[in-house]
Amino acid sequence: MQLTVWTYEGPPHVGAMRIATAMEDVHYVLHAPQGDTYADLLFTMIERRGKRPPVTYTTFQARDLGKDTAALFQTAARDAYARFTPGAMLVGASCTAELIQDDPAGLVAAMDLPCPVVALELPSYQRKENWGAAETFYQLVRTLAASPAPNRSNARPTANILGPTALGFRHRDDVIEVRRILNALGIAVNVVAPLGATTADIARLPAADFNICLYPEIADTACRWLAREHGQPVVTTVPIGHGATRDFIAELAALTGIDPAGACDPGHLPWWSRSVDSTYLTGKRVFIFGDATHAIAAARVARDELGFEVVGLGCYNREFARDLRAAAALYGVTPLITDDYLVVEEAIQALQPELVLGTQMERHIAKRLRIPCAVISAPVHVQDFPARYSPQMGFEGANVLFDTWVHPLVMGLEEHLLTMFRDDFEFSDMAGASHLAPLPVAPEPALQAVSPEVAPHPAPDASAARVWSADAERELLKIPFFVRGKARRNTERFAAERDVATITIDTLYDAKAHYAR
Ligand code: SF4
Repeated sequence: MQLTVWTYEGPPHVGAMRIATAMEDVHYVLHAPQGDTYADLLFTMIERRGKRPPVTYTTFQARDLGKDTAALFQTAARDAYARFTPGAMLVGASCTAELIQDDPAGLVAAMDLPCPVVALELPSYQRKENWGAAETFYQLVRTLAASPAPNRSNARPTANILGPTALGFRHRDDVIEVRRILNALGIAVNVVAPLGATTADIARLPAADFNICLYPEIADTACRWLAREHGQPVVTTVPIGHGATRDFIAELAALTGIDPAGACDPGHLPWWSRSVDSTYLTGKRVFIFGDATHAIAAARVARDELGFEVVGLGCYNREFARDLRAAAALYGVTPLITDDYLVVEEAIQALQPELVLGTQMERHIAKRLRIPCAVISAPVHVQDFPARYSPQMGFEGANVLFDTWVHPLVMGLEEHLLTMFRDDFEFSDMAGASHLAPLPVAPEPALQAVSPEVAPHPAPDASAARVWSADAERELLKIPFFVRGKARRNTERFAAERDVATITIDTLYDAKAHYAR
C-alpha cells in the first residue's frame, strides 16, 4: 500500500484509451466496474473532444459478482461490434476486473469476431498510463502492420510520425509543426499515428522509408519493432527547443541526403534571449520535473538557450530513468526519479529555485511555495489544451517556450524596482511577486530573537535555526525576496557548521563569500 493523494499518471488502461480515442476506427471493450466511465471526462472535458471516446465498459456491479461476469463481457463485446463495426477491437481489463480474472483475451478468442482483436495485458498494479499507451500502440502495430513492406521506391522520401495521442500535451500542434518542417525539406508524410489514424493507415506503416519517434514514451516500443521487422530507421531527436529542432532537421537531412537549409528558420527565440532585456535571465536557478522527454528537452533549452542554471532535474516515469540520469549528469545535478509529489516538493523546497518548470502538480507546489512556475509536461489541466496554436516543438514551439517560461518571472525592470523601493507600499515584499496572487507573502521562516543580548543556547545540531542579530536581519532584508530564502538558509548552514550562535552582518557576508567561491 502507498498513501497517495496525487498521481502523475493514471492506470495503464487510461493509456490504452488514449490510443483508441486518438484513432478513427478502433473500439475498446473494457471490463471494468460501474464508475470507471469517469475516464471519459478526461477526453470530453480536459481535451474538450466533441464526442465520446470509443470505449464500451462492462460496468459490472457488486450484484454481478455472484453471477457470470464473463458472459457480461462477451455480451458487451458482441454488442459493441454490432453497433460500431470497428476496423479493429481492443479488449482488456481495468484494475478491478484484473482481480476477477475473467481473461478477456480467451473470451474474445472464443467469440471469433469478424475484425482483428488485440487483447491487452496491462498489469495495473505494476505499470501506469504511459506504459499502457506504449504497449497498446505496439500491440496494434504488431497485429496490423505485420505484412511485409510493399515496394518503397517512393519518388521522394516518406516518413511516419509516431507517438501523438489523445490527451497528449500539445500533441495536436506539435504534429502541425513537425509536418511543416518535413514539408520544407520535401519529405512526404506517410502516416501520423495513432492520432487521426485508421487501422488501414497502421497497415500502411511499413511503406514509409523511416519513422519519426516524436514521443518516446508512447512510440519507442513500436518504432523498435518496426525497425527490426521492416528495417525502418528511426529519427530519435525530439525537436523541443531551437537547438534540438536544428538537430532534428540535421538528423532528417543525414538520413535522406536532403539539404537542411530549406527548413532552418531562425525563429525568434535566439534573438529574444540574446537581446539586452534578457540579460537578467542569466543564471536564474530553475528546477525541472515532468515526463522524461519533456524534462530533458526543457533542461537543454533552459541552460543553452535561455542562460538559466539547472539546479534540479527529474521525471516520474521510471521507464526512462536511464535517459534522465544521463541528462542530469550533463548539468551536474542529482537526478530525481519519483512519482511521489511530496518528494518533489521537498526537493523544490530545499533547492529554492527562482523558477519551476513542471507539470500541473509542480504548479500547485510552486504556488504554495510562491515560486514562479510554467507547465512543460503532462499531467495537465484544461488550460493546457488551449484554443490557440501553441506547439512545444519546432521553431514556433521554441517561441512559445520563450514566452511561457519568461512570463512568470519578475521582469528585469520590476526586479530592479522591487529592490530599490522595497519599502514602498506597492513594491514592498508584502505586495507579493508580480502577477502572483496579491496576497501577503507567506511569512519568512521563523525569525528568531532580534537582539544578541537574548541569544538562547546554541542548538546542538546543524539544522537548528540560528539567532539573527537585529543588524544582520536588516541586512538580510536588503536581499531581493526571491533569493532571500536561500541566503538565509546558506547563512544558517554556514553558522551551524562553525558553531556560531548569533548571526551578525559579518557572518552573513562571510557566508556569502564562502558560497560564492
Ligand atoms: S478499476 Fe482502477 S481505475 Fe477503475 S475505479 Fe478502480 S482503481 Fe480506479
